[in-house]
Amino acid sequence: MLSELLRDKKGFIFDLDGCIYLGDRPIQGAIETIGMLRKEGKRILFLTNNSTKTPQEYADKLKGMGIEVGDREILTSSVATAIYLKRLGGGECFVLGERGLIQALEEEGFKVLGMGEARRARYVVCGLDMHLTYEKLAAACHAIQSGARFIATNMDPRLPLEGGYIPGAGSIVEAVATATGLRPRVIGKPSKRIMKIALKAMGLKNSEVAMVGDTLEIDMAAARLAGITGVLVLSGSTKMEDLEKSRIRPDAVIPSVAGLQELFLKK
Ligand SMILES: [Mg+2]
Repeated sequence: MLSELLRDKKGFIFDLDGCIYLGDRPIQGAIETIGMLRKEGKRILFLTNNSTKTPQEYADKLKGMGIEVGDREILTSSVATAIYLKRLGGGECFVLGERGLIQALEEEGFKVLGMGEARRARYVVCGLDMHLTYEKLAAACHAIQSGARFIATNMDPRLPLEGGYIPGAGSIVEAVATATGLRPRVIGKPSKRIMKIALKAMGLKNSEVAMVGDTLEIDMAAARLAGITGVLVLSGSTKMEDLEKSRIRPDAVIPSVAGLQELFLKK
């Protein structure tokens, strides 16, 4: 039974936007649900594809909403990318991205190059860059032509905002992909790469974890590819009619994270 399946999990991975909060507002019941899971002794990891902020900034945001969290319980696509590249072998990077990505790479020992030195880069790392210029795009393409490997933090086409959206990392990555004719290696969800790093950070196996998120193509696809139980919440970007049209079938569908509490109470 579903409630039993979830109760037996040792850890829960939560997407943030559309799952724990919407913009700057916590989803109703999110605070209590996280509190209940902690009381039950479950391990928790918050996993976001957004590469712009640091784990500390996400921890501060969650604490500001009343959700207690350590910054080691937060994994961003930036941190996962830095961990992944370090395993591939260090080197110098040219980055299209914000502070969250630059800091994550520097913390893993990478040197982040300026535009004038981009051709020396071993890796071109693309995330969401809200200060993107044509010169930066050109420098990224120069570096790739000079042999740098093309890496993307994630491919989310859009970043939802209240009342609409802005272009996401994927829109920037596609500009470089179109110019170079190359596809990047993607680290963020739905890639298995970030899910492996998440499981390692939790010290758990895929069968011991459930992944809770609001997107089919990103969160539920990530869960499926990694062999993790997927729980879709309808509090974010997916509506019931999207679910009916999709070929991605989550293991469970609940209105919001608050629904986890009911499942845990059910005998
Ligand atoms: Mg989301």
